[in-house]
Amino acid sequence: MAKLLYENEINTQVLEGKKIAVIGYGSQGHAHSLNLRESGFDVVIGNREGKSFNQAKEDGFAVYPVAEAVKQADLVMILLPDELQQSVFEESIRPNLKDGAALAFAHGFNVHYGQIQPPSNVDVFLAAPKGPGHLVRRTYQEGAGVPGLYGIYQDYTGKAREIALAYTAGIGSARGGVLETSFQEETETDLFGEQAVLCGGATALVKAGFETLVEAGYQPELAYFECLHELKLIVDLMYEGGLENMRYSISDTAEWGDFVSGPRVVNDETKARMKEVLKDIQTGEFAKGWILENQANRPKYTAIKNAENNHLIEKVGRELRSLMPFVKNPIQSEQKDVKV
Ligand code: NDP
Ligand code: MG
Ligand code: MG
Repeated sequence: MAKLLYENEINTQVLEGKKIAVIGYGSQGHAHSLNLRESGFDVVIGNREGKSFNQAKEDGFAVYPVAEAVKQADLVMILLPDELQQSVFEESIRPNLKDGAALAFAHGFNVHYGQIQPPSNVDVFLAAPKGPGHLVRRTYQEGAGVPGLYGIYQDYTGKAREIALAYTAGIGSARGGVLETSFQEETETDLFGEQAVLCGGATALVKAGFETLVEAGYQPELAYFECLHELKLIVDLMYEGGLENMRYSISDTAEWGDFVSGPRVVNDETKARMKEVLKDIQTGEFAKGWILENQANRPKYTAIKNAENNHLIEKVGRELRSLMPFVKNPIQSEQKDVKV
């Protein structure tokens, strides 16, 4: 089994007395900053003026324009949206990086696909919690942590690995365990996971199930409960004890149905499609499409997003959830987006 490292095996001294600039105070940014500060590190924020800037101030941080934050930092963690990182990096980060500073990312996209080519006189590492930012924060507050990955792209000072590990401890990931990876492996697996299983796969499965029931004449409300609402309850059981634990809790009838029908829905054909998705990620085809889509101001993204928000499952869901105050999402009520 691959070697995971935990808090008690990590020495965080290397970051003591160092200034960490977290650039971007969004989903990941607010979680890293607050966790690092509570772990005893010196954190400042770099952000453009606006919503996040004000939030970081409200949370008690010294907040600067990006260039100003970078100038004073020994470690710069870039938590801007992936599609904006390159331009902010060239304009405000590269010209202000101290010699021997550390440059960090929570996702390898820009470095792996050559959008950001870091200068040679800095350390470059990855510290990627394997969970949405708001859970990175929430689990830390609960005394736990979202497991994470770390990886070294460039070791200028000879201390890059030590610094990366100290950082993962600071954000709480080392409580859940951290695993060493490369920028390539993190980027490709992260994109594949979110596209094929966690986000793309799951939403497509939920919608197809919902549509199948509704098209067969069943009530949309019931189809919503069956295909979307209950999914969380099932996934919680998997999270806590794997597939076996989930199957222990469901009826034997459900388990038999799982065994015989699951592979009819997600079959060799589906797996062949997954391999195509993976290939597009490995060849850079997916990255190219997303980069060009952003350069064109996201026409396709916008059209799809509008259509998705108007899908019957969303309309029915909004109504049903308004009648179930207990499913009120604490993250939505904070007015923050959840992203993976
Ligand atoms: P968000 O979109 O949630 O946050 C981005 C932040 O950057 C916001 O605070 C935004 O502020 C700020 N920002 C945007 N544009 C600029 C700019 N031009 N100059 C300065 N600040 C700016 O991003 P995420 O947290 O989702 O993603 C950050 C990184 O973390 C990405 O690399 C992503 O892949 C990675 N990641 C994200 C995960 C997640 O849970 N979301 C999970 C693991 C990795 P404003 O309010 O002004 O827009
Ligand atoms: Mg991810
Ligand atoms: Mg991702």
